[in-house]
Amino acid sequence: MIIVMQRNAEDRQIDQVVAKVKAAGLDVHLSRGKEVTIIGVIGDKTRLDPDELQAMSGVEKIMHVTASYKRASRDFHPENSVVQVGPMSFGGNRISIIAGPCAVESKEQLLETARAVKAMGASALRGGAYKPRTNPYSFQGLQEKGLELLAEARAATGLPVVTELMSVKDIEVVAKYADVIQIGARNMQNFILLKEAGQAGKPILLKRGMSSTLEEFLLAAEYILAQGNNSLILCERGIRTFEDYNRNTLALAIVPTIKKVSHLPIIADPSHGTGRADLVIPMSRAAIAVGADGLIVEVHPHPEKALVDGPQSLSFPQFEELMKEIKPMAKALGREI
Ligand code: PEP
Ligand code: MN
Repeated sequence: MIIVMQRNAEDRQIDQVVAKVKAAGLDVHLSRGKEVTIIGVIGDKTRLDPDELQAMSGVEKIMHVTASYKRASRDFHPENSVVQVGPMSFGGNRISIIAGPCAVESKEQLLETARAVKAMGASALRGGAYKPRTNPYSFQGLQEKGLELLAEARAATGLPVVTELMSVKDIEVVAKYADVIQIGARNMQNFILLKEAGQAGKPILLKRGMSSTLEEFLLAAEYILAQGNNSLILCERGIRTFEDYNRNTLALAIVPTIKKVSHLPIIADPSHGTGRADLVIPMSRAAIAVGADGLIVEVHPHPEKALVDGPQSLSFPQFEELMKEIKPMAKALGREI
């Protein structure tokens, strides 16, 4: 249920409605817009009498919401949420680019990449220290040592660091080093991890599960928002389909769809979304054309030698070309990179 207050309703009137909802044992999600305040009601709405609420002073109308996700819904929060982390911003006019290797491999590899992507216009550095690998004998990441290297790269370049949290047991150490905690596709429905990560006091980048629906994706987001953490960025990273000419199918129609039903920012990952470096630039252009708030792209000084995801990693000249191509596109769309 959503309670729409009258234009320019007074704080006193808003407080009275909030108190009434809370007295019935329900929670509220308050969205104070420039002109209109919206009170989202969360919980068993049968405990409230809509006619009684409608009669309260300052109330414009009562609306019933059918979507299962509430805090993630645009009905509850009509304006875009803007997530700002250092030089990165998602959900506003800016398009921010997160770039870096799939996995942190060494100090040289990471620092060289961080310096290169910074010089070419990236807003943040990505790099996995804990890697979710299909094969248990594959490189699993440098773990805490990898996090230390990410912190060194941040100190050297000023770029904020985006890195994946795979397990609740690593939450303290990952939160200590990360500027943004990434929840990977394989963990999108690890509900315990979502709850704990939501409480870690850091912005979260939530990647879409490879076989999740839009509703499941937004319900996973709801787990994080329900912890009181509103600094949440969604990421379309490709889904599994019958198609096998690409690693995944980058389902870009979700970008404008999310924009319609949710206030949350959404970025695209054309690296995992295609699995092929030659498709990263065209699919990046496509992502920006459909309204993505940013990109997360894998870049490696020597893709052919990368320990993880070499075939989809851009070389430095390829990343430079990507930035060169998307800047005028963003400008044409009235956005900036
Ligand atoms: C990654 O970003 O390195 C990664 C493992 O992504 P995903 O969870 O989308 O597979
Ligand atoms: Mn990867």
